[in-house]
Amino acid sequence: MKLLLINPRFPESFWSMKWAIETFAPRVRSVNPPLGLATLAALSPDDWDVEIVDENVEPVPLDTDADIVGVCGMGVQFERQKELLGYYRSSGKFVVSGGSYASLCPEKYETLVDTVVSGEAEHTWPAFCRDFAAGTPGRLYREGNTVSLAASPPPRFDLLDPSKYAWMTMQFSRGCPFRCEFCDIIVMFGRRPRTKPLEQIGRELDALRALEVRNVFFVDDNLIGNPKAAKQLLRYLIEYQRIHDYRFRFGTEASLNMAYDPELLALFREARFAWVFIGIESPDEGSLKEAGKLQNLRQDMMASVREIYRHGIDVTAGFIVGFDNDTTDVFDKQYEFVVEAGIRRAMIGLLVAMEKTPLYERLQNEGRLVPDRISSDNSKLTTNVIPVGMTNDQMITGYRRLYHRLQEYPAIATRIRNKNRYLRNPVSGDARPLREVLGIVGRLVRHVVGQAGLPGLYHMVRSIPLLKPELIPQVLVDWIHELSTRDYIQRHFAQESDRDSQLARSHLARIRESLGQYLQRGRLRVALDHERRAASELRFCMSGRLDPAFFRRAAQQLETMLRDTKASLLLQIEEFDARELHLLKDMLHRLGRYGDRIRIAADDASRRIIEIDSSVFTLVMTPIGESSTLRRAV
Ligand code: SF4
Repeated sequence: MKLLLINPRFPESFWSMKWAIETFAPRVRSVNPPLGLATLAALSPDDWDVEIVDENVEPVPLDTDADIVGVCGMGVQFERQKELLGYYRSSGKFVVSGGSYASLCPEKYETLVDTVVSGEAEHTWPAFCRDFAAGTPGRLYREGNTVSLAASPPPRFDLLDPSKYAWMTMQFSRGCPFRCEFCDIIVMFGRRPRTKPLEQIGRELDALRALEVRNVFFVDDNLIGNPKAAKQLLRYLIEYQRIHDYRFRFGTEASLNMAYDPELLALFREARFAWVFIGIESPDEGSLKEAGKLQNLRQDMMASVREIYRHGIDVTAGFIVGFDNDTTDVFDKQYEFVVEAGIRRAMIGLLVAMEKTPLYERLQNEGRLVPDRISSDNSKLTTNVIPVGMTNDQMITGYRRLYHRLQEYPAIATRIRNKNRYLRNPVSGDARPLREVLGIVGRLVRHVVGQAGLPGLYHMVRSIPLLKPELIPQVLVDWIHELSTRDYIQRHFAQESDRDSQLARSHLARIRESLGQYLQRGRLRVALDHERRAASELRFCMSGRLDPAFFRRAAQQLETMLRDTKASLLLQIEEFDARELHLLKDMLHRLGRYGDRIRIAADDASRRIIEIDSSVFTLVMTPIGESSTLRRAV
């Protein structure tokens, strides 16, 4: 039996770290691998042939001889998950959906798939595999309880390519004892933390060691949900690290109460945890009370963050704006807290109500959900929550401005300096050769000077702690992360101004002029769509036989437009001639660096010839036979 498991492409967000990865780690394609699929592979029968395709690092196959195609997904991946499920189903495959969104909302998949696997999969997936092999697969396999993690086998790390990820992942526990109103974790995993046996953690680390992995992210939503078990884990890790020459560097997520326990903090540091992600959410006590985030209120939050720094652990943190308690002054409060606490990579999101959470239920009862808006991505300029303390426009404007302020050079430098006052002896990555370090510094400096001139460089230099040289590697990492967030904000949070759309129109005119003969012959259709997107989208439809001059001019014009404007591109390809493949590939190669702004749609036959890398471009996966509808798009 052949099983193909697919992790759909994520929409780009702060988490993607696109600029940092492309500039400093070009072999890496994504931050984390799909751990859930590696676990599912381990739960599959031994004699099944399992393949994992992560669309974030490699293209999905258009043709597969798999008997089953399983597509997982979180809420943010739902649109792509739907598209992939539709495509493989239309090609006659048996398709199965799973992942966290199918666990929360299995009803959404009823008409999309042959089987839905919902909830923790340790028992339901083997049951599905048995039934499928017997020719009697069910429609829905739903785990109604929480499972013991002793039943969770070591993931099939061997099916992943660690060199493509910044951090490999592991899981120790599921569940969190707290009651944050907006949280879907406790809806899925419950409030009683369950943990894996320590010997299993050892086996998983052995497997990662064999793959020469060094950076490991414990994906637990709250690693210290059960503090006693967390301490046992940390002691185990300390011993493991001692025996194996301290080869791993860890990161994880935990609640802020970790700062209240000095023994716990010391164990984290000794086990070589370099950073922890904490849900701080808001410096405003009223907002925290409203959200039920009471664990953050037991001690002064600023003091807690600094206490963690003092133990050599860096803090990245999540923040939310848009609570009922929030008014327009919340943006200044958030800004001041983030800067003063020196939080790196502050992930600030709008409050969104995820389905099945207590928040969703409450707002639904109050009639305060925007109808028909699914909202599971809190890193965009939209939410399904109707705010009460300010208007929606005030909230979006304040949110956008907050991010822009935080990513200004003086604010980045001040944050780093504020952190460095407290950070002691952090865990650093592997020592790199001097030449490599100088190369990184050179690229950083060039970028800063190119973007912000000498004033930008001044702020970078003033953040370097010359009296604490042991912190300098961390400062460089901070700058790389901050500039990556800045790059994302500039590309995604900027409003298209009249000037921008005017610029896009003048590029359209140039394209028409340069490629006029192909327009006249009906080989090309172009149009600009301002309607449906935050920025204009150029629709560029190529049809039938074209010549080298066309591809050369088109590549140049499109590249210039993508470089000089915020516009995105829909590239439609119809009746493609295979003899022109090398010309099209050259053109796509030039456009690849703007891949996140490019959607490519092609009819069935053309799609097969071209073999578009769907991890670079968004390949529109219309069901087989439906591609002709694309003709109407331009
Ligand atoms: S602490 Fe984190 S994981 Fe736990 S309930 Fe709150 S948001 Fe959810």
